[in-house]
Amino acid sequence: MNGTGQSISDSWNERMRLIRLRRKKEKSRFREELKIVPRWLMVLVIVLYLAAQAIGLLVNLSGAANNGELWPTDLKDHPVFASLALAGIITAVAMVLAAYLLLLGYVYRDAQRRGMHAGLWTLLVVILSAAYLLVGFVIYFLVREPLPYPCPQCGNSVGARFNFCPNCKCNLHPSCAQCKREIAETDKFCPYCGNDLKVAA
Ligand SMILES: [Zn+2]
Ligand SMILES: [Zn+2]
Repeated sequence: MNGTGQSISDSWNERMRLIRLRRKKEKSRFREELKIVPRWLMVLVIVLYLAAQAIGLLVNLSGAANNGELWPTDLKDHPVFASLALAGIITAVAMVLAAYLLLLGYVYRDAQRRGMHAGLWTLLVVILSAAYLLVGFVIYFLVREPLPYPCPQCGNSVGARFNFCPNCKCNLHPSCAQCKREIAETDKFCPYCGNDLKVAA
């Protein structure tokens, strides 16, 4: 591999390591994550679902009144069951579509709060999902930037890539004095060499 390729793969490894390290500290709960989906999108999804149900029911019943065919045709003599079957099918399709729309809304907001190009990422996910279904989402979740987090010393919000807090100069990537590897600010002992970090501090 030539020099450029090597340095690209080095910076990629460095990036993935940083992402893994920070993500381990992100305690994300599913319910908390759901909250970042825009409220208007949730309302829109519900409105679209109700509209689809109403249109499906009306079209089916008016079709039955005009030419006597009720769908599904197996149930054409039982309008109530036929309508329920149709409603069930619409619900199943709507759940898939709703999950897709809400995920897109999540990607947009999540990219925004992580300081990524929200519009670009959402577009990329849409384009990829046209051909490869959920691949766009998978790529997004693999490479997304770590969340900003509060400085352990002063609580100021700091970017995941910062080495020092811009507010209090706290070292955000402390390393073990003995083996020089990166450790978490909460570690009491170095997870690599067992050095007592309290003594060093
Ligand atoms: Zn600070
Ligand atoms: Zn160590």
